[in-house]
Amino acid sequence: MCKALIIGAGGVGTVVTQKIAANPVFSEVMLASRTQSKCDAVAAAIGGNRVRTAQVDADSVAELCELFRAFEPDIVVNVALPYQDLTIMDACLECGCNYLDTANYEPKDEAHFEYSWQWAYQDRFKAAGLTAILGCGFDPGVTAIFTAYAAKHHFDEIHYLDIVDCNAGNHGMAFATNFNPEINIREVTQKGRYYENGEWVVTEPHAIHRPLHYPEIGERESYVIYHEELESLVKNYPTIKRARFWMTFGQEYLTHLRVIQNIGMARIDPIIYNGVEIVPIQFLKAVLPDPKSLGANYHGKTSIGCRIRGVKEGRERTYYIYNNCDHEKAYKETGTQAVSFTTGVPAALGASMWAKGLWRGAGVFNVEEFDPDPFLAELGPQGLPWHELFDVDIEV
Ligand code: NDP
Repeated sequence: MCKALIIGAGGVGTVVTQKIAANPVFSEVMLASRTQSKCDAVAAAIGGNRVRTAQVDADSVAELCELFRAFEPDIVVNVALPYQDLTIMDACLECGCNYLDTANYEPKDEAHFEYSWQWAYQDRFKAAGLTAILGCGFDPGVTAIFTAYAAKHHFDEIHYLDIVDCNAGNHGMAFATNFNPEINIREVTQKGRYYENGEWVVTEPHAIHRPLHYPEIGERESYVIYHEELESLVKNYPTIKRARFWMTFGQEYLTHLRVIQNIGMARIDPIIYNGVEIVPIQFLKAVLPDPKSLGANYHGKTSIGCRIRGVKEGRERTYYIYNNCDHEKAYKETGTQAVSFTTGVPAALGASMWAKGLWRGAGVFNVEEFDPDPFLAELGPQGLPWHELFDVDIEV
């Protein structure tokens, strides 16, 4: 039996807590976050006193350790913000807990995305005999597990990997982000970056784009952006010659984004306003719609997958593996939209893989290092069915 502690009561945390609470492999469940009333609301909606709640500032290792020592979790599922990854990993090491997250560490004062900070914990987790599972949402997460599945079953060598992420949903708002606005805007306004022939190629933001077709959705303009799973995938699959990540954006979204940047509201450095220090992007977050609130009016689907070209038994082949998730269906089940749902379901499932002893090991792991089969066997039944297309035109 396994005790799970979830940290972060946002859109993703809501889904993770529901899925973990519904899974009998977890004997006890706690949800802790900065604002306890948000945890209480999630726990009350689940009912039956299944979920305990607590207040914690996850920036403080001392506060985290106090909570860990009181609850004694076997695994800590971090769905707070990427800023808290290292403090939560430190507390896990200090208290002997295993760890899982959905986004790599970012320093608050620099929108910089790389695994080096968390990979640096490898020796300490190894020595402690603890497992740290990095990037177990959808992207990163399922996209890397899809790649591992392709490598295991369908390719001798993967040569070209294009991860494609389309949100064809409409929430009826002029501008909103689908997950934490601060993290989202930092991610999509950075320079483009992809991997080719052993090197990283950097472009201006959104410089490379083209229309791609998405199943059951149609054509959508798709833009090359940097996404963190590229870093671990090219390391773990060294036959890859080129790896890119494409995300769809509507013109309206891009126009808002440009204005936000041009007027300085995307700045992450502190400014003084009326004698008080504020960070413009954090102020912006406070006035934008809460991603959790978008679900009620969200229609349409997301479609995320991997388009792969490589060789099997000397023959070149193409392969497309993807999931489509319906915003309305996600909302009906969990009260959140599809982006929180597609992130929360894999995080809860990854924790259950650890709890069942299927994903274990001492050290720090990216999800593609584990066996993809038991995970993907359960992903559909958990609400995210996936599909495969062989030897089709993958457009990229
Ligand atoms: P939200 O902003 O909705 O939720 C974050 C939660 O973390 C909030 O409840 C917040 O508390 C809490 N929190 C923030 N700082 C602290 C702190 N110092 N101590 C304790 N709690 C804290 O974000 P989302 O739910 O949309 O996203 C959660 C995570 O999921 C993010 O890291 C995001 O990057 C990741 N993600 C991953 C994806 C993937 O596919 N891999 C896709 C989408 C998101 P409060 O309520 O008080 O503000």
